[in-house]
Amino acid sequence: MALDERAICHEAGHAVAALHLGVHVERIEVTDRLPHSTISRDSLEKKSTEQRCIVLAGGIAGEKFFYGDYDKEASQGDQNRISEMGGDDIRKYLVEALKIVSLHEVCLRELKKQLISGWVRGESEASWESDCDSFELLSHEEIQCIWKGSCRERRV
Ligand SMILES: [Zn+2]
Repeated sequence: MALDERAICHEAGHAVAALHLGVHVERIEVTDRLPHSTISRDSLEKKSTEQRCIVLAGGIAGEKFFYGDYDKEASQGDQNRISEMGGDDIRKYLVEALKIVSLHEVCLRELKKQLISGWVRGESEASWESDCDSFELLSHEEIQCIWKGSCRERRV
């Protein structure tokens, strides 16, 4: 299974936007060959529609940060969820989401790095088992540790 670096940047962006807004990120895992963030529904529901849309736009903000653009087709799922919530065009939230990921650049880069190594590790471990399309990349504790560590770094 090829490591999808762009998809990793996308998930790191979702995670950073969620963490910034105080939304609980449960884990980031690979399911069906794609990285996927599990965000606590409860903690997301406490946020305003605008904030939830910013978390959803965080994915393309992560891509834009590293690549200068984003995969429009792949962002359709996020756009659909925004529309379901009564939100606007995803690009409307991209500006704010991009500000957030840039502000937490240290965390974003560290997440990307650890997601890549998690993928390489998970893939080599999973190749011994039959179900090699799904494995965890980062747990809630690991994500919190990266988030807190990078915030501490910023204050020094
Ligand atoms: Zn997404």
